[in-house]
Amino acid sequence: MRESRDVEALVIGSGMSGIGAAVALRRAGVRDLVLLEKADDLGGTWRDNTYPGCACDVPSALYSYSFAPNPEWTRAFAGQAEIRAYLRDTAAAHGVTPLVRFGTEVIRARWSPGDARWHVETTRDHYTARLLVSAAGPWHEPRIPDIPGLADFPGEVFHSARWRHDHDLAGARVAVVGSGASAVQFVPAIQPRVARLHLFQRTAQWVLPKPDHHVPRAERWLLRRLPAAQHALRGAEYGALEALGVGFRHPALLRAVQKVGALHLAATVKDPRLRSSLTPDYTLGCKRLLLSNTYYPALTRPNVTLHATAVKAVDGNRLIGADGSTADVDTVVLGTGFHILDMPIGRRVFDADGASLDDHWKGSPDAYLGTTVSGFPNAFVLLGPHLGTGHSSAFMVLEAQLAYLAGAVRHFRSAGWTSMDVRPEVQAAFRAEVRQALPSTVYNAGGCASYYLDANGVNSFSWPWSTGRMRRRLARFDPEAYQAR
Ligand SMILES: Cc1cc2nc3c(=O)[nH]c(=O)nc-3n(C[C@H](O)[C@H](O)[C@H](O)COP(=O)(O)OP(=O)(O)OC[C@H]3O[C@@H](n4cnc5c(N)ncnc54)[C@H](O)[C@@H]3O)c2cc1C
Repeated sequence: MRESRDVEALVIGSGMSGIGAAVALRRAGVRDLVLLEKADDLGGTWRDNTYPGCACDVPSALYSYSFAPNPEWTRAFAGQAEIRAYLRDTAAAHGVTPLVRFGTEVIRARWSPGDARWHVETTRDHYTARLLVSAAGPWHEPRIPDIPGLADFPGEVFHSARWRHDHDLAGARVAVVGSGASAVQFVPAIQPRVARLHLFQRTAQWVLPKPDHHVPRAERWLLRRLPAAQHALRGAEYGALEALGVGFRHPALLRAVQKVGALHLAATVKDPRLRSSLTPDYTLGCKRLLLSNTYYPALTRPNVTLHATAVKAVDGNRLIGADGSTADVDTVVLGTGFHILDMPIGRRVFDADGASLDDHWKGSPDAYLGTTVSGFPNAFVLLGPHLGTGHSSAFMVLEAQLAYLAGAVRHFRSAGWTSMDVRPEVQAAFRAEVRQALPSTVYNAGGCASYYLDANGVNSFSWPWSTGRMRRRLARFDPEAYQAR
């Protein structure tokens, strides 16, 4: 029988955002707190993405919580298993794990003004909650391309985020569709094993050398003993990435970085035709910047064919490119990204009148400070619209939001509020401010189409300023921006 339970706060998801939200909410005094997780383990992205070569592409010292520094990373850019273990350990150490209801998918959450609570239907129980935090993850739902004939492909087809470890690729003829952040990692990992690899690349990517290395035991020992050294490392890496961020806001400054990318390509790919196919025709940073020392070399191997084209159709076991090139294969691996700006949670969270977030957004997600949405009182969206950075760590964004969330909750409790709804004019003014600042950034001016652009062709993803400004802007909760009761 379904139970009904009333709690102070509900968090949807137990990835890095959900875990971080739970820690922040508890620090803000919330004791009655539940995390709803549809899967049977926490970790989100780092639970789901087990493809060969999966690793983070910002240094691990930055891709971690500031409140849980980890001196044990064995690589400068840790791999998936280590990041997953880190999230699991952090959740356990901060008492979050027992708060998670696994195997519990949120189907529908609706604001009820009568009792000033969120009413949440899940695959298990029914909850009511004063506060709702969506930490459902923008990189969660794999994007499966709508390619005619793909559904009838006679071999195996899978997305990189749902890797089929039971399907042996040794000696197989494999087509990879997509050349983004995941493909750049798994292509070099599978290339030595497969008989043939056909890579379908719609757009050439900027790929810089990855300054990755094994972290020696002595260095880990030092970091364990000297937390200040670890703090300094984090600070130095933050500074280096912020310097890159200056270029993203002033694209003319990116020429030198672009030169590094061009030299990297020239040094690793000698064939002029292949090199030309791999040369991007837009400014570095316009799409997510990729790092790899092994991607270009893998593409020069004799068992690899690069098709510099999108896949137009699939006929039996033959993939047909928009340029007419073909590939006969046994397996198709989709490295085609995620439903980022059209994330499924947008269709599951409803205002008092029954309109969903998606209905409000009409293809262009929008939230005040990337966090609160008018008409959705007492709700917070983590890693929400307008907060994406092309150069920094998602943890930087998350922690800026967690400071805001904690401030909001403290104020909410001490002021005795029962509901807080961001004023529509405040949200509109913030949106206008962002949209005014974006055109000069590389994300908008770099001459590419990217996942930063939504269904309407508008950049709803990016934060056009520094992450320092993001931190400052979200450091203090601003009650005057809200209609409260
Ligand atoms: C392969 C990959 C590599 C990445 N590498 C980097 C990197 O190097 N640097 C960087 O800054 N960013 C990176 N990102 C982006 C981002 O940092 C990660 O996606 C990060 O895990 C986001 O954390 P999250 O908790 O917000 O979402 P997720 O990790 O996606 O977690 C969301 C959780 O919510 C659950 N959930 C979703 N819907 C529901 C529902 N309706 N009911 C219940 N539970 C639900 C999911 O099962 C999941 O556990 C990467 C993303 C991917 C996909």
